[in-house]
Amino acid sequence: MSSPRSAGLIAVVTAMTSLVGGATGAAAHASGTADASGAVRQDAAVAAIKEPTNLTELRREAQKAFQGIEDANRALKARQKQFDGLQKQVAAKLTQLQAADQELAKVRRPLSDIVEYIYQDPAANSMGSFFPAGDGTTTLRTLSDVNHIVAEQNNVVSDASKLQQQREQLATEAQELRAENLLQEAQLDAEIDALRKRSNTLVKSLTRALVKLGVKVNADNRGTGACDPTRVDLAAQYPNGLLPKAYLCPLPQKGEELRADAAIAFADLNAAYQRRFGTPICVSDSYRSLPEQQAVYYQRPGLAATPGKSNHGLGMAVDLCGGVQIFRSVQFNWLEANSKRFGFIHPDWSYHSPFEPWHWEYDPKVGSLL
Ligand SMILES: [Zn+2]
Repeated sequence: MSSPRSAGLIAVVTAMTSLVGGATGAAAHASGTADASGAVRQDAAVAAIKEPTNLTELRREAQKAFQGIEDANRALKARQKQFDGLQKQVAAKLTQLQAADQELAKVRRPLSDIVEYIYQDPAANSMGSFFPAGDGTTTLRTLSDVNHIVAEQNNVVSDASKLQQQREQLATEAQELRAENLLQEAQLDAEIDALRKRSNTLVKSLTRALVKLGVKVNADNRGTGACDPTRVDLAAQYPNGLLPKAYLCPLPQKGEELRADAAIAFADLNAAYQRRFGTPICVSDSYRSLPEQQAVYYQRPGLAATPGKSNHGLGMAVDLCGGVQIFRSVQFNWLEANSKRFGFIHPDWSYHSPFEPWHWEYDPKVGSLL
């Protein structure tokens, strides 16, 4: 009876012990993620303390808050994926536990039958049909067999208590996992909520500031979202020259418009220019739709970019007048020296190929560093 069954059972229990160890490691990793999202929360708290003072800062803070929402959403998704994985591990362990329970029941039943038989009737002619009657050798073997059975029963009792421990440990683990997950989800939800509120507040302040500067934010029924810098990623998905009105923010200069981030930067630049020269910047062209690009291309051959290639079609470029169009004029020099502070540049090509002193554009890379 030297127990192949029991050996198998022990193997299962051992395997389970190592599985539980693995899950503990995973749980530790999960709390590491909580620390990471804690860092995100700290960033948001720091941002909340600082009050934006100008258009560029408002734009940057609104974009940062919006980026924070996306980051937190990603963390939430990763968290849920990790939780699903851990739950699957617990489910797999429970299945194994069930199999071990069934295995134990199979071993326990016949053993208890035999032991009961021996103790009830120890003189039953050396265990009747189980062990053949005979000389002293047989009796000794019988006694040894009985010892085996008793030892085996002890093993089974020990296995059963190990399984019980595993069961309790798994139940605790599953409960802790669920609680930890609910807590982290609630924290991330609250974080996203706070960031969304902050982003909305910033966009509203920004809109008010633009209106003060003479920007008719909702002109031509484009909707108030047209000057929302958190929507520029959506605007960037449209092909050159095909941006809908809803993604074009008006400039203080009537009839001119740019993508929200460029328009906000331009309104700021325009205010600085006005402080310096007493007049707003003269704008001859800004966003150009594809048909407009085609018209310019055929009217001024060699002077306009191939239709569909121009930064005007992305709502990022302006052509300026009022002196700026004259290379090395006071206005040109002032812009050349100051526009970068607002995210605007005079691109390298426009110095020579083709020579376009009037062409200036918003560079999101420069703008994002402000
Ligand atoms: Zn141009």
